[in-house]
Amino acid sequence: MHCPFCGAEDTKVIDSRLVAEGDQVRRRRECQSCKERFTTYEVAELLMPRVIKQDGTREPFDETKLRSGLHRALEKRPVSTESIEKAVSQIKHYLQATGEREIKSRVVGEQVMSMLRQLDEVAYVRFASVYRRFKDLNEFRQEIDRLKSEDVQE
Ligand SMILES: [Zn+2]
Repeated sequence: MHCPFCGAEDTKVIDSRLVAEGDQVRRRRECQSCKERFTTYEVAELLMPRVIKQDGTREPFDETKLRSGLHRALEKRPVSTESIEKAVSQIKHYLQATGEREIKSRVVGEQVMSMLRQLDEVAYVRFASVYRRFKDLNEFRQEIDRLKSEDVQE
């Protein structure tokens, strides 16, 4: 990175260590040109992206909403709270890992669907039927058939 003192392009890392219990990297750098030293900190950017809704409006990612959506889909299903929590953190992790600042609500929805598919197929179909708004029973039937045929392949 550039030297903040003289603007030279070449600075050399002279020391590098983990700080903040390993969540940050602290680097001492020396400018090859003016010999000034300075410190940089590197941290992972793990902000949740904002969600772009269908109508184009943006809203902050809402973990509570995600959780209650999963609970609703999994109502009276044999899935533990622990598994639901795991799904919540996996979805969050996926969204953070994209590195995007904004993400379409559809992407979140697809993640929820793929999680539900792994957890419980009844819940998956329940959620998908609302989410994808199957136009008719035929389309719904097709989705069930698709699930069944995929089961056979496993
Ligand atoms: Zn310099």
